[in-house]
Amino acid sequence: MQKFMKAAVLDGPRHIAVKSVPVPEVGEGEIMIRVSACGVCGSDIHMWKTGRGWGEDRGDFIMGHEFCGVVVDPGDSRFAIGDRVVFWANLYCGQCDMCRSGQEQLCRDVNGTNYIGFVCNGAYAEYFVGKALNAYKLPDAVSDVAAGLIDPLMVAWHAVIKSGLRLRDRVLVVGDGIIGQMIGALARKAGASVVALSKINDRRIARAREIGDFDLYFDGNDPDRAQIMQDASEGGFDIAFEVVGAADALSACMDGVKPGGTVVMIGNSINPDVRFELNRAVLREIRLIGSVSCTEKEFRETIDLIAQGVIDPEKYVTDIFPLEKLQHAFERLASETDPVLKIVVRP
Ligand SMILES: [Zn+2]
Ligand SMILES: [Zn+2]
Repeated sequence: MQKFMKAAVLDGPRHIAVKSVPVPEVGEGEIMIRVSACGVCGSDIHMWKTGRGWGEDRGDFIMGHEFCGVVVDPGDSRFAIGDRVVFWANLYCGQCDMCRSGQEQLCRDVNGTNYIGFVCNGAYAEYFVGKALNAYKLPDAVSDVAAGLIDPLMVAWHAVIKSGLRLRDRVLVVGDGIIGQMIGALARKAGASVVALSKINDRRIARAREIGDFDLYFDGNDPDRAQIMQDASEGGFDIAFEVVGAADALSACMDGVKPGGTVVMIGNSINPDVRFELNRAVLREIRLIGSVSCTEKEFRETIDLIAQGVIDPEKYVTDIFPLEKLQHAFERLASETDPVLKIVVRP
């Protein structure tokens, strides 16, 4: 007999409704979990606005790619009923040259959108069925809510590793969202001597000030920001992280970084044409590095970072909602004035 579950379904532009939908079947190599927590991600907003996922449009769609749960059907996998697991949303092939060299985030099949909750149904639902290959057992020390934040933390972790950060480096973060704030926290732990945040307004800064990982806060709108940042960092930052995906934020990184320094670009833009003053990079030999998602090894390391108490991602959570409030969550995330930093849904 067909079983049904509650799911928050994207059924049109800017519209999510909680509906009763069939529980998916467990196929070969798949497991079913009862979803415990699912982080609401800024990258979901684009789908919410357009009313559809990134794959073929088959009507109603379930987003949600930052999630954990309890195994209720292990299928033919190594998992047992009752295991707590977190899913890595990256649908990498495991066969191509990139995957074989340990760079699963660059898998030839992934193309920036081949993730659970982007091209196939995700976890804003009571149950989720997916490949056992993408599931990882959670240590007891990692709470459900913390596991719902592994996704932004892995992005921050990969970016800090890519930057080549060394002890005593001065670090600038441009972008006050959760990934920017997590980069600041990890840079501090990794031995940065000065960690600074450039922001456009104060709406999301309250939590950052409370947590206290940043030494300096710059106003991105200040016409003298270049001089102010150069003075405050005594000649420029060694590393600047761009975590917005906009021309002005990249320009702010160029204003802050020292000659020969490194700019790591994490923010990605829906508009692919971002203006950039080439000579500011060429004539000062700035290293520009792109950074996306993380490797499979870094995903496992991110779980360890939380389990070992290096970072507690729960401190970035501003709201925990039931499925019924997911529509409200997106309205808040899309607002220009709401101070929300991270929402986690518990179906
Ligand atoms: Zn995400
Ligand atoms: Zn691959």
